[in-house]
Amino acid sequence: MEMARRIGRCCRPFVALLALCGHAAVAFAQLQPGEDATATLARADLTKTSDHQKFVDTLVRLENDSTRLTEKQRAHLQYLEAWQVAYAGDYDAATPLLETVAGSSPDKVLRFRATATLINILGIGHRYQEAFSRLTELTDMLPAVTDPQARLQGLGEAAQMLATAGQYDLAADYAERMIQSTPAGDSACKGTFIKLHAMFRGKRIDGTDDRYARGIADCQAAGENLIANALRADVADTAIRNGRPRDAIHVLESHYAEVLRYGYPSLASQVESLLAQAYWNENNTDAAGKYASAAVKSAPGGEYSEPLAVALRTLYLIARKQGDFQSATQWLERYMQADKGYLDDVSARALAYQMVKQQVVSSRMEADVLDRQNQILHLQREVDRRSIETSRLYIVLLLTVAGTIALWLIRTKRAQLRFMRMARRDSLTGICNRQHFVERAQQVLLASHKAGRASCLILFDLDHFKLVNDTYGHSEGDWVLLRVVAECRDHLLQDDVFGRLGGEEFAILLPGVDEADGMKRAELIRAAIAAPPAGGPSSARVTASFGVACTRRHGADLDRLLVVADEALYEGKSAGRDRVVVAVAHSGAGKARAPVAPLASKPLGLARS
Ligand code: GH3
Ligand code: MG
Ligand code: MG
Repeated sequence: MEMARRIGRCCRPFVALLALCGHAAVAFAQLQPGEDATATLARADLTKTSDHQKFVDTLVRLENDSTRLTEKQRAHLQYLEAWQVAYAGDYDAATPLLETVAGSSPDKVLRFRATATLINILGIGHRYQEAFSRLTELTDMLPAVTDPQARLQGLGEAAQMLATAGQYDLAADYAERMIQSTPAGDSACKGTFIKLHAMFRGKRIDGTDDRYARGIADCQAAGENLIANALRADVADTAIRNGRPRDAIHVLESHYAEVLRYGYPSLASQVESLLAQAYWNENNTDAAGKYASAAVKSAPGGEYSEPLAVALRTLYLIARKQGDFQSATQWLERYMQADKGYLDDVSARALAYQMVKQQVVSSRMEADVLDRQNQILHLQREVDRRSIETSRLYIVLLLTVAGTIALWLIRTKRAQLRFMRMARRDSLTGICNRQHFVERAQQVLLASHKAGRASCLILFDLDHFKLVNDTYGHSEGDWVLLRVVAECRDHLLQDDVFGRLGGEEFAILLPGVDEADGMKRAELIRAAIAAPPAGGPSSARVTASFGVACTRRHGADLDRLLVVADEALYEGKSAGRDRVVVAVAHSGAGKARAPVAPLASKPLGLARS
C-alpha cells in the first residue's frame, strides 16, 4: 500500500469519479449480461496492484451496476472502493470508508482486511495511537480468520507496525507466522523480508547472515525484486558498518537503476543514503555528495526518516570538509531537524505502542474485574437461588414435620379417646363401667340436686344368673346380659345414667324423678327383663331383683344411695327375687324399709320361653 500510494493520486475519491481520470470509456460501463459479479470482484481483488487500471475500471463497472449486486457482493465492492481511495493517497477520505467496512461489513474477512488497511494508512498518517488500537482489534480477530490472503495481510500489517514501534522480536514472530501461513506454492518473500529486517533492526542478526542471501535469491525467483533490493539495503548497511564500503557500493550500485525504476521513494532514498555513506567512507566526496543529494530529493516529502537524516549529515560533512561553512551550517541545521523529527517519530511510535498496550492491559484488567464482579453476582444469585430453594425445602420439611406431628397428634388423640372410651365403657355391653358410672352419676346427681329436683337410683342384679351360665354356657350368658342391657335402654331417657357395676349387677340413675316414678320405671324395666325374649340368639329367660333409693328420702350422696339401694335389692332377693324394693329407710336407720311387692311376682326368672 505504502509503496503504491502515489499511484492514482490524480483520482481523488470517489470510485464514481475514477472514470473521469482519463478513462471516460468505462464511465458508464456495466457488467456483461450473465457476468458473475462474485468472480469479477475476486479477480479485481487479486489484480488490484498488478493491473491497477483494470482494477479501477472494474470497480467503476461494478459501481454502475451496484443494484444487481447481492449484499455480500456490495460489501466486497465497498471494501475495494475504500482500498482504492487509500491507494490513491487520500487517507482522510479513505479512513472513514475503511472504518465503515471494518465496523459494519457483514463479512468478517472484509472487516479484518479493512482493519489491516486502516492500520496501514493510520501509520502512514502518523496516527500511531489509533493504529495500535486497531492493531489490537486486528490481532483479536486473527484467530477467527482462516482466509489465507487476509491472514497474510493482517500478519504483515501487525509485523510491520510492531517493527516501527521498536518491538522487533514481536514483529519477527508475526513475520514468522506469515511465512508459516503462506500457501504452498506461493513465495514467502514478504514474510522473510519483514522477519529478517525486524531481526536486523533488533540487532539479532546483521547483513552477513546466510538468510539474507537466501532471502534475496527467493524474492528474485518470485519476481519480488523490490523486496530483494530492500534486503540488499540491510546487507549493504552491515558492509558499511563493518568497514567494507566497497562491498556495499557493489551490492547497491549493481541494482540502483532497477531501484529507481520502481519509483518507490523510501527504498530509493535508503539506497542512495547508504551509497552516500559508503562513498563518504571511501573518501569519494563527489560520489557521496551526489548520492546524498539524490537521497534528500527522493525522500518522501514532509516526512523525516533515517536515510534522510543520514544523507543530510553526509552533506553537512562534505560541506564542512570542503570549507563551505555556510552550506555546512545549513545542512547541519536541516540534518538536526530531520534527525530530531525522525527520532521524535520513532519515540512517538514506541510511546503510542506502549500507551495502547497499557490501555489494553488496563481495559483487560477492568474486564477481568467486571468479569469477576459478574462471577460474584452470579454466585450471589446462585446462593440466593439455592437459599430460596433451601428455604422452600425447609418450608416443605417444616410442613411435612408439622403434618406428621398433626397426624400423630390426631392419631394419639383418637387413641386416647378410644382408650378413654374403653376405660369408661364396659367391654361386653358398651354401657358405663362402674368407675365411669359413679363419676357421671355423681355429676348428674349434683346438678339435679342443685336444680332442686329429686333423683332416684335403681340397682338390680340378675337372679340366679350363675344357673344361666351353668345351663346354657357362658357365651349364651353374655347374650342374656346384652339383651338385658338392650331392654333397659328402651326405658331410659337422655339424661339417665346407666352402668354395669360388675358381673350381672347394674345401676341406673334417674335425674328429676321422684320415688313413685322411680319405682314405676324400675317396675317397667323389671317386667321387660322378665318378659320372654322376642328374638336373638338366646331364648334363656331371666329375671332381676331391684332396689330403688331416692334422694328425697336418702339425700343426694351417691355412695349412700348405692348402699341403701343395695340393701333394698337384697331385701328383694330375700323376698323371692324378680321384684322391686323401694328403700324407705336404710339399715343403719333402724330397718325402716318398705318392701315393694313385685308387680308380677314370679319365683324364678329361669325358664325357657
Ligand atoms: P342370685 O340370684 O343370688 O344373685 O344368684 P346368682 O347366681 O345370680 O349369684 P352369684 O353371685 O352366685 O352368681 C353370679 C354369676 O354371674 C357368677 C358368674 O358366673 C356370672 N357372671 C358374672 N359376670 C358374667 C359375665 O360377664 N358373663 C356371664 N356369662 N356370666 C357372668
Ligand atoms: Mg345374681
Ligand atoms: Mg350378683
